[in-house]
Amino acid sequence: MNTNDGAALTSSALHSGQSAELMDRYQQSLTGVFGTPQAVLVRGSGARVWDAEGTEYLDLLGGIAVNALGHAHPLITSVISSQQATLGHISNLFTSPTQIALAEKLLALAEAPAGSSVFFANSGSEANEAALKAVLRHRKNTAKPRILALEGSFHGRTSGALSLTHKPAYREPFGELISGVEFLPFNDLTALESAFENDDVAGVFLEPIQGEAGVLPLDDAYLLRARELTRSCDALLVCDEVQTGIGRTGEWFRHHAVAGHIVPDLMTLAKGLGSGFPIGALVSFGARASTLMGAGQHGTTFGGNPPATAAALATLHVIETGGLLEHVKTVGAHLARRLRAIPQVAQVRQFGLHIGVDLTPVPGTESPAKDLVSLARQQHGLIINATGDSTLRLAPPLNLTTEEADQAAERLTAACQSLTTDGGCDR
Ligand SMILES: *Cc1c(COP(=O)(O)O)cnc(C)c1O
Repeated sequence: MNTNDGAALTSSALHSGQSAELMDRYQQSLTGVFGTPQAVLVRGSGARVWDAEGTEYLDLLGGIAVNALGHAHPLITSVISSQQATLGHISNLFTSPTQIALAEKLLALAEAPAGSSVFFANSGSEANEAALKAVLRHRKNTAKPRILALEGSFHGRTSGALSLTHKPAYREPFGELISGVEFLPFNDLTALESAFENDDVAGVFLEPIQGEAGVLPLDDAYLLRARELTRSCDALLVCDEVQTGIGRTGEWFRHHAVAGHIVPDLMTLAKGLGSGFPIGALVSFGARASTLMGAGQHGTTFGGNPPATAAALATLHVIETGGLLEHVKTVGAHLARRLRAIPQVAQVRQFGLHIGVDLTPVPGTESPAKDLVSLARQQHGLIINATGDSTLRLAPPLNLTTEEADQAAERLTAACQSLTTDGGCDR
C-alpha cells in the first residue's frame, strides 16, 4: 500500500476481497449489535451507491435520513477537506469561526428569541442526552418528578435517550434506566390532558413526526395543546427534530409547519445536519432554557469541532441557495403520487421527503416490507428501509431529482410485482 496516497486507505481501495470474504471478516471483527449488514458498499455519488462487486443501487434510505445532499456532494467534500487541512479538531477549550457561525445560523433559521443558544454534540442520542440533562436540572429545581414521552418514540440508544425510547425490546434488556419516564399513547389528547392534572411534569419529549414508527405525524392540535400545557404547568417542551429537521419535510424544522405556531423550549437535531458528517445539536430557546445547565454541567470532547461545523454550515448553505426546501415539497409530492399508484401500496404518508408507505397484506408472508427490502436490493437495485412488518420508510437525499424519483418508483413497482408473484423471499 502506498501510504503517501490517502486514496489507498479509502473504501474503494480496501476491497481486494469480494463481498463474501469481507462479510466473513466483518463477522469475525465487529460487535454483533447490527445483525448481518445487507451489503458491503464501497462508493457513492448523489442518490447512488455501489457495492464491492460493482453493482449500482438507487439509495432511498440516505444513510437513514442523514445524507441530506446525497453521497459525495462536491461542496461538502471540498469543505470538509479544506477545513481539515486548515484546522481540524481543537476541543471545546477553544472555539472557531465555523462553530460560532453555525450556532448563529441555526438560531436564525429556528427563529429563536434573544437569549437562545446552541450546544453541539456528535449524534442524535447525544443531542437528546443534553436535552434530558437540561430537563433533569429543571426536575431538580422544581421537584416535579415526571418526564413524559410517547408510545412509538425513538430518541436514541445511549442510556438516557434510551429511557425515553418506547420500544421495550430496546430498553428492557438493560434493567432500570432513568426513573420517572412515562409513555403516553400517541396523539391521544385526553391522555395528555390527564397527565398534567397533578402539575408534576418536568418535561415532555415529542417527535413532531415519529420516523422509526413509520412516519407517523402528531396532529397540530396535539402539539399546540402540549405547548399550552407545558407552558402553564412550568414543564419543558422538547421537540426531537433529529430526523424531521434540516429540510427533510420541506421546512427547516417540522414544528414550523404547525398551524398556530409553536416554539419549543428545547429542540434536538442531528441526522441531516452534517449531510453525513457526524454532528448533533441542542437548540435552547430563550434565556431560561439556555441557562438550565451552567458552566461545567455538561460537555463533549468532539462536539462542534471545525470540520463538523464546516460540513453543517455548507449543508445549510446548499439547502438555502439551492431552493431545496421547495424542491423537497415538489419532488416528495411527485414521488408520493407515483407510490400511490403501486397496487401493493395501501397508504402513503408524505411530508416532503420523509415518506412512510404501508403495504397491503401479501399471501405467504407475515412481513411484506422486510421481504421487499431484500427483493428490491437484490433484484431491482433499490435500497429502501422497513420500519415494521408492513411499513417502509423512505428518506432519500433532499436533492433527489424527478428522474431519480421516477426510477425509484419504477423499481419499487417491479419489486412489489415480484413480491406478489414469488411470495416472500429469503432475507
Ligand atoms: C436517529 C434518531 C435519534 C438517534 O440519533 P443517533 O444519531 O442514532 O444517536 C434520535 N431521535 C430521532 C427522532 C431519530 O430519528
